[in-house]
Formats: sequence, structure tokens, C-alpha cells
Amino acid sequence: MADKYMELVNTGLTKKLATMLGLPRPPRLRRYSPDAALLPGPVLILGASAKAQELSDTLVSWGLDVRRHDAGEAKLGGLVLLLDELERPTDLSPLMLAAGQALRKLLPGGRVVAFSRPAGDDDEPQLSAVRQGIDGVVRSMGREMRGGATANGIVLEAGTTVASPSALAALRFFFSGRSAYVDGQFLTVRTNDGVLPADFAKPLAGKVAVVTGAARGIGAAIAKTLSRDGAQVVVVDMPAAGEALAKVANSIGATTLQLDVTAEDAAQQIMDHAIGRHGSLDLVIHNAGITRDKLLANMDAGRWDSVIAVNIASQLRMNEAFLAAKLPGLRIVSLASTSGIAGNRGQTNYAASKGGVIGMVHASAKLFAENGGSIAAVAPGFIETEMTAKIPLGTRTVARMVLPSLMQGGLPVDVAEAISFLGSDAAAGLNGQVLRVCGQSLVGA
Ligand code: NAD
Repeated sequence: MADKYMELVNTGLTKKLATMLGLPRPPRLRRYSPDAALLPGPVLILGASAKAQELSDTLVSWGLDVRRHDAGEAKLGGLVLLLDELERPTDLSPLMLAAGQALRKLLPGGRVVAFSRPAGDDDEPQLSAVRQGIDGVVRSMGREMRGGATANGIVLEAGTTVASPSALAALRFFFSGRSAYVDGQFLTVRTNDGVLPADFAKPLAGKVAVVTGAARGIGAAIAKTLSRDGAQVVVVDMPAAGEALAKVANSIGATTLQLDVTAEDAAQQIMDHAIGRHGSLDLVIHNAGITRDKLLANMDAGRWDSVIAVNIASQLRMNEAFLAAKLPGLRIVSLASTSGIAGNRGQTNYAASKGGVIGMVHASAKLFAENGGSIAAVAPGFIETEMTAKIPLGTRTVARMVLPSLMQGGLPVDVAEAISFLGSDAAAGLNGQVLRVCGQSLVGA
């Protein structure tokens, strides 16, 4: 339905009518295709930063037309703001006003990416103020974007620079169509770990990846995306979903494992299958999840316990077993939800499980790093799947339209792109990250 509406308000006579009536016109998002240009036009870099030249050289090597000064009327595909050396809030003015002028020339599907440093409790108040202020700037810019353009930020922790591998990888992710539904968000570069792929079209070449709950919806999209990005995929789902699972597997040359992730030995079965059939286990995507919504006043033990068992307890148990097996370089990406961040009526059980995923990721990052691995989560907002199809139509329609920046729900592939990126070696320096894929809204399942 969202697609039909978008088609109508963006084409021919109905477009004119929609404009006359002042109906919201959700833009077509610039999604990833391996053959598409990284940005729709030249990129302007404003501001100063250590290693800015290295950054600029890298962007040129990616085939981008890089400008260091705003040159008149030329349209822009991207804008990079180097804000990491600012010392006090009054420093922002010249750069932000110049950025404002540049924004007028940003093409549909364009990208703004700001580099900054984290605001720390031990910093000088001036310094902490400007750094925290940049957070507000980027989130506000995201809400001012038009035509499917987005604004996101990269936060550089001590010891990292704009040219650190994961900073460059995050920048490329934000530039590309892979981040179409990510807006007003930040990725934090914690270390100089990470290796950029030899081939950006195959960042997961040679990896064996397991996706749970892969028979449909977001899980099926993740499996397809990881396979497109070069991974050998193992798809996992309940025996009852066997037929759908086989279809997904056949479409991408994956192998299937019928398994309830709440089984005590789920991790062992996954390791046995991946290592036995494909020689290693490099990436696990904890995607299997359920909703059993009820107001807390009407909640019963069955609903509460099943959501906790599938959405978080199973992941904790599996991760413990993976850690005990000391698999070298194992990366985990888990599915959180904006409900676990902002809460959602009727979803106390689900929010407990998804907030739980976020807590698990934060506390597990150092444990997976000990074997050269990492863990991250993606928190989707409103994504069009069978799960969200169960939301009453009125709520669903309002949910799509009130999405402030992009005015539409996301697609399963939008979540899958973020997962593929966070599960890649290039993202190793982003260990412990939770990235919202929500079109800058907090409505979702
Ligand atoms: P979905 O219901 O369409 O698919 C979930 C899949 O998981 C199904 O194939 C199901 O059979 C499988 N599954 C359920 N329990 C399982 C178990 N015990 N063992 C193995 N497989 C099991 O859901 P979806 O919308 O594709 O959501 C996928 C994930 O994304 C979930 O973790 C969900 O919480 C999360 N999420 C979805 C949205 C959204 O808007 N759709 C938003 C935020 C988060």
C-alpha cells in the first residue's frame, strides 16, 4: 500500500493533485545497487581535521569528484563536515552557515556526514558543549532534509581519525544507498581495527554467515543481502517454516538448518552445521524474533515468557556457547528495535527483550573482541513486513506518514544493508554499536 501511495503522489496527474491538496509526498529513496554511483554528484568537504588530506585522497580513489571549497552553482551529491577540532560552541557558526548554503545545492538522495568527537564528562565544559551540540545539529539536519537525502554523524573516539579504517567504512556506508533509511544517526569509531575490503561490492567474500529466522521478512532479506555481498549463507528457521526456508536457500545457494533458536543446544547445532558443511563460522545474525503484544494490565505469563525466550534469552545462551568455543574473528549482529529504545504501547514484553539486546551488545563487545571478533545491533523502526502487517491499518498508515524525515516505512533490505555492513571486517572498529534504521522516527515493532 505504501508503494501504491508513493507511486500515485510521485507521478503524472495524481502528483499534481497531491501537491494541490498538500498531501505528504514521500520521496523515492536512493537504495543500493552494486553498479550505482556512490553519490549522485560531487562531494564538498568543509572544515579542518588531522588527516583531512588522507580522507580527501581516499574519496578521490573511490571515484568521487571532491571539492574543498564551495564552487558556485554546481549541484552536490554529498557534504562532509569536519567538526572534530572545534573547541567551543561559538566555533560552529562559520561552518554551519556555509553548510546551510551548500545544502541548498544538495541533490535528491544526497548525503551529509559530520565527523565529531564524543562529549566526555571530564572535558572542559566549553568542549563538551560544542561536541554535544553537534549531536543536536546532525539530528536536526536530518529532519530538514528533502528528496530522500539524509544527514548522519561519525564520532571519533580518542586515538582514531577521519582516516581510520572504520571511519572510512562508515563514511562509505552513509554515502551509499546501503544507508537509504538511516537518518539522523551516529556511528562511533572506537579503535583503529578494521580492514577495508579489496572489493567494495563483495565485502563478505570468503565468510560463512548464519541468519536465524530467515524463512521470511527481514531475515530472508538479510540472507539475500549477505549472499549478494559474497558470504556463504546458512539459513535457520523453525521446522514449521521449512518450505519457505528452502525457497530462500535455493534462491541464493544457501544451506538450511531447521532449528528452534530456544533449543538448549542451538549454538552447537549452528557451529556443527556451519563448520561441518562450510569450514568456518564467521558471522551470526540473531534475527529470529516474535511479538506477543498486550497491555501490561492484560499480560499473561505465556506471552511474556515466550517473547523473552525467543528474542533475548536464546541469544544470550548462544553467545555464551560461541564465546566458549573461541571462534576466531566471530562477528555477531543482533536485531534490536526502536521499541527497546523509546518504548511502545502494548509491547512491555517485547521492549524488555529488545532493550535487553542493546544491553547485551554493550556488555559483550569486549568479550567478542578478545578473539578478534565484534558484536553490534541494528534497531529497526517501522519496517514493512508480515510482523508489522499485524498492526491495525489506521495505526500503520499514521505510522508511515508521521515519519518525519522520509515519510515512509522502511523495507527489509534497509535493515539487511546495515547488518551486512556492521558484520563486515571493515566495521571492526565500530564494535558494540547499536544503529537505528528507522527513517529518524521511533515508531515501530
Ligand atoms: P517475521 O515474523 O516476519 O519473521 C520472523 C522469523 O523468525 C519467522 O520466519 C519465524 O518463523 C522465525 N522464528 C520465530 N521464532 C523462532 C524460533 N524460536 N526459532 C527459529 N526461528 C524463529 O518478523 P520480521 O518482521 O521479519 O522481524 C525480524 C526481526 O526484526 C525480529 O527480531 C523483529 O523483532 C525485528 N524487528 C522487526 C521490525 C519490523 O518493523 N518488522 C522492527 C523492529 C525489529
